[in-house]
Amino acid sequence: MSAPAPAGLAAIEGWYTLEEKPHLLGTRCSACGTCYFPKQTMFCRNPQCEGTQFEEVRLSRTGRIWSYTDACYEPPAPYVAAKPFIPFVIAAVELAAEKMIVLGQVARGVELAQLRVGMAVELVLEPLYTDERGEHLVWKWRPLKDAA
Ligand SMILES: [Zn+2]
Repeated sequence: MSAPAPAGLAAIEGWYTLEEKPHLLGTRCSACGTCYFPKQTMFCRNPQCEGTQFEEVRLSRTGRIWSYTDACYEPPAPYVAAKPFIPFVIAAVELAAEKMIVLGQVARGVELAQLRVGMAVELVLEPLYTDERGEHLVWKWRPLKDAA
């Protein structure tokens, strides 16, 4: 049922599925239902909740831009930047179902001027770097063509 995986490896293992229509992988607290990305597995950050059980969930692969900027400096770990570093556009996207904000680079070829708050985007995978094991992919946000 899943789409064929693009020929590539995850730049960050276990953070997203390697499918044609990829999903970010988060965790959901079994007690209160709060979702986390990156995965939270030790304790729930909801102050009203004492949950310590988490299940892996595939997060929404679409959302709307909440905020965006161009990054002219290298992002901190774990947001891996391409080497040599070239400035890129970064977007904070509110996921469609979970209403949580996930940061990501914007897909190649998309300029800052094309973006606006509220624009619908989808998750895509693009090469981040290549080494002897092959091409390593990272998630990015790409505006949906028929975005309203
Ligand atoms: Zn919880």
